[in-house]
Amino acid sequence: MVDINELSSEFPMIKEMQAYHKIFWKNPNYKKEAELPVGSEHIFDAEARFQRFAPYFEVAFPETLSDHGILESPLLKIDQMRSVLNAEATHKLQGSLYLKADNYLPISGSIKSRGGIYEVLKFAERVAIDHGELVYGDNYAKLNEPRFKKMFSKYGIVVGSTGNLGLSIGIVACQLGFNTSVHMSSDAAQWKKDLLREKGVTVVEYNDNFTHAITEARRSAEMDPSAYFIDDEGSFDLFLGYAVAALRLQTQLKAQKITVDKEHPLFVYLPAGVGGSPSGVAFGLKKVIGANVHPIFAEPTHIPSVSLGMLTGLNEKISVYDIGIDGVTKADGLAVGRPSRIAGKMMDTLLYGIQTFDDQKMMKNVAELHDAENIDVEPSAASGLTILDDVQAQLEKDYPMENATHIVWATGGSMVPKSDMDQYLADGESEINKTNL
Ligand SMILES: *Cc1c(COP(=O)(O)O)cnc(C)c1O
Repeated sequence: MVDINELSSEFPMIKEMQAYHKIFWKNPNYKKEAELPVGSEHIFDAEARFQRFAPYFEVAFPETLSDHGILESPLLKIDQMRSVLNAEATHKLQGSLYLKADNYLPISGSIKSRGGIYEVLKFAERVAIDHGELVYGDNYAKLNEPRFKKMFSKYGIVVGSTGNLGLSIGIVACQLGFNTSVHMSSDAAQWKKDLLREKGVTVVEYNDNFTHAITEARRSAEMDPSAYFIDDEGSFDLFLGYAVAALRLQTQLKAQKITVDKEHPLFVYLPAGVGGSPSGVAFGLKKVIGANVHPIFAEPTHIPSVSLGMLTGLNEKISVYDIGIDGVTKADGLAVGRPSRIAGKMMDTLLYGIQTFDDQKMMKNVAELHDAENIDVEPSAASGLTILDDVQAQLEKDYPMENATHIVWATGGSMVPKSDMDQYLADGESEINKTNL
């Protein structure tokens, strides 16, 4: 157990967190040399696996046909939103603003279509190969045949989730034929549980936080020898699935003639829950694009788990509940009190910093993005926009900003039912009205 009084005298930022004030934590180790347990070759391996599965997606998920079975999202320039933000900003954004619209990713409508789905594919491939039913050179469309579903049905897949990870894994694992259980924290939206049950997934609900749900999920998988546990708190497969985004983004940057070099720095704003998806993407970007891309994480003031873990260096050994804060946020995708075991370690030298934000402003940004660009995202996914203004002053001290490119990672939202989305928008409009008074 950590002594919190001692810790907060060593790290005064903890007192700010306890008061729910916004903080910017600048990573003192950014750009130092480090040995990492994974490298570029692992990203290429993951991309090759996605390519092998492309023919499978074409037959099993026909909505992926137009992209030839590749799950990818567009990179959108959002000039209107930039004007809206700059009209109210204390530090006007220089350079151009883009949205990486993972809210439009097929299958789960969120960034979890990268990591979550990737780990299911990797497991399925291994099972099929071990059974002597698949070789790497096969056309993987055959995995959609009934005999494979029958084979996979002898295996279980278990995951703990606040919502979207369960959704992505549940949908794909069930389609492959796996016996799938998703353990959901109390933050998970009802529609996600309903949809999963409709698909045949076993949904176990807890009236408790994510740390509890994932602990129970892990325990249930340990008791079942046929079950494979997908560990959001420490899986490198999840991590590498997310990292593939960097290869895809590099292609999109080139296609849109966006230069990245010393005079044209690229800033990428990523929301962090356990820190798995933003770390995976950030790792990929640093490996693929290099020194002139600078990743920045966004976290709610009420649940800044990765900030707390990284600034104290305790990573997964400390949770926001240890410092007595409530963990309450409308950003359900970020409602995670304890960071993953790998996020802080992998980000130690690769992350520029973390900025926290207030829910009210995030909700406002959800509505503004809808009004300005006609793009709907879930609350978590707007938080990259929410932190923009706060970090510009800091960035200006370190980089030339005139020719900067800013990419806000919109992590989810296209599967949110209309009634839920209307509620988010109503909340956001009332925040807009408050600031206009
Ligand atoms: C999961 C999720 C995140 C954060 O990802 P972590 O891996 O938990 O850090 C952010 N936004 C949305 C919409 C998500 O579903």
